[in-house]
Amino acid sequence: MTQPATIDVLVIGLGPAGARAAAKAAEAGRTVVALDRRGRAGFPVQCAEFVPALLDQELADLNTVTLQRIDEMITYVEDGGPDLKPRFPGRMISRQAFDEALVARAVDAGAECRFGQMVEGISEDGTVILSNGDKLRARVLIGADGPRSRVGRAVGRENQDVVETRQITVALNTAHKATDIFLSADIPGGYGWLFPKGDLANLGVGVAPEFKDRLKPLVARLHRVLKREGRVGGDVLGHTGGPIPVGGMLDPVGWLGGTVVLLAGDAAGLANPVTGAGISSAAISGGLAGEAAARYLAGDHEAGDHYREELEDLFKPALDRALKRRRELLAQFDQGDTPGAEDLRRGWIAYPEYWAA
Ligand SMILES: Cc1cc2nc3c(=O)[nH]c(=O)nc-3n(C[C@H](O)[C@H](O)[C@H](O)COP(=O)(O)OP(=O)(O)OC[C@H]3O[C@@H](n4cnc5c(N)ncnc54)[C@H](O)[C@@H]3O)c2cc1C
Repeated sequence: MTQPATIDVLVIGLGPAGARAAAKAAEAGRTVVALDRRGRAGFPVQCAEFVPALLDQELADLNTVTLQRIDEMITYVEDGGPDLKPRFPGRMISRQAFDEALVARAVDAGAECRFGQMVEGISEDGTVILSNGDKLRARVLIGADGPRSRVGRAVGRENQDVVETRQITVALNTAHKATDIFLSADIPGGYGWLFPKGDLANLGVGVAPEFKDRLKPLVARLHRVLKREGRVGGDVLGHTGGPIPVGGMLDPVGWLGGTVVLLAGDAAGLANPVTGAGISSAAISGGLAGEAAARYLAGDHEAGDHYREELEDLFKPALDRALKRRRELLAQFDQGDTPGAEDLRRGWIAYPEYWAA
């Protein structure tokens, strides 16, 4: 039987993690093939589209994909609030345009980016099998295939905990420069949000999976309340959703036969277990994975270990704190208790209690 040709770097997934990985490995002169099952970059959007100002340090040119600036965060705990957290800067981006731009950069760098290609299986020797029957082999396999990563599963690293989400897009009646957060014991393991983007807003809710059947009524209720307050329109202009990994960081390095496997972004469990934010960590970790792949191929056999250390240094302290806070709150539900306002505040990043020992 003929063996598939071996390429330098194969990237599965062309979200922010995969597109950055493909760009960095290609910039270093490696042959890169990157695949995504979607028909085109960034579509359909499954995101509330907020990125913190921190991402400006990693990616130039965010202005071209920015819908509006965010200056602060406002939190409502049960029927209380608004609690203002000033100086919480960031941007609302068009996630589709953002993903498209990152893929365009990978293509410019020389990566071959293919859409409409679904990975169906990965064998123990590292051969990647596509749904059209094609087989691919690479010296480095980068798993940037999101929360339910097949690449991660192949090396025994699966996100165990996720939050399930539902989001609608509505008209926003008054310009707003804050991300609004709604915390309630009725939203176990998650929260509600209203993120403004010009004259529209993303309005959504996330919950622990066992409460998934509450999502629709919770979003409808939040929508009703905000409409009654005159803040948003009554029409639902779009809807989306999807899982967010909230179980914390996985070991991002593994082996399949002679193939090194690097996980990045949601596949490596890098979304924040409390906020669900994962765009920045995906873009940053993807870039580092691409660089690590290139270093490994240039003869640095410790490149994988260094990649793991880089991710641990950058992300682990924040992820561990968030995981701890998340577990404290969920434990109350497990014990049949209803968390009070104090507990909810301790579980949310806007309050000093969250950052206390
Ligand atoms: C409703 C919702 C709202 C969110 N809001 C925010 C927010 O406001 N801010 C924020 O920072 N984060 C947010 N997140 C999280 C954020 O979207 C993710 O953390 C981020 O997309 C992770 O990027 P990634 O590249 O790791 O994975 P993804 O963006 O999920 O990309 C993975 C890619 O892999 C592809 N893929 C998967 N399996 C296969 C396969 N078998 N074969 C081929 N291709 C495959 C997918 O098609 C996808 O394109 C939100 C998530 C959800 C669900």
